[in-house]
Amino acid sequence: MDKLKQAIIEQGVVVSDQVLKLDALLNHQVDPQLTMEMGRQFADLFRSEHVTRVVTVESSGISIAFATAYALGVPLVFARRKKSLQVESEVLCERVPSFTKGMVTDLLISKEFLKENDRILFIDDIIANGDAARGLIRIIERSGATLIGAGIVVEKCFQPGANALRESGIRLESLAKIASLEGGKIVFAE
Ligand code: 5GP
Repeated sequence: MDKLKQAIIEQGVVVSDQVLKLDALLNHQVDPQLTMEMGRQFADLFRSEHVTRVVTVESSGISIAFATAYALGVPLVFARRKKSLQVESEVLCERVPSFTKGMVTDLLISKEFLKENDRILFIDDIIANGDAARGLIRIIERSGATLIGAGIVVEKCFQPGANALRESGIRLESLAKIASLEGGKIVFAE
């Protein structure tokens, strides 16, 4: 997606060889036009799969997952990161390492919002080691729903997450692939 690549070049900040700060377009501020366009793109890629729910992780995945769910005409469910004080009905919970926070966090989805006959499209902002995605996928599996694929805005190809998921048979589509951040330079994979 040329517009996304352009925005990454103009607004992304390389923090280290491993981390790209995308606060200006994904993780703090949101560009609504670009986000809706990305949502349409994911919707086009996965429309034939008869998605019934889009699932993401709070908070940075929500805007893009919303745009995708809107374009597909289905609900969006976001995993919460910690238990709320409210009495929950039954929840599915997985503990995952957090790439940016350097600690473990719990991902939770209420069973009410993931049903056995659901066909789930997982959407997220960035994939690095794939821990968040794997946690979410385990929750989807435990619910009995079917994961039809994953749509990721930015894939960091030099980290193992995306390809490990592909190798496990999951259809993973990303809109921008980053080959390297070495020397403070953003290099796209194609
Ligand atoms: P993973 O679980 O795949 O290792 O990391 C995925 C999560 O960590 C993403 O949801 C994203 O929010 C965050 N993350 C991973 N790498 C980066 C990065 O380079 N920049 C930013 N801003 N977030 C990242």
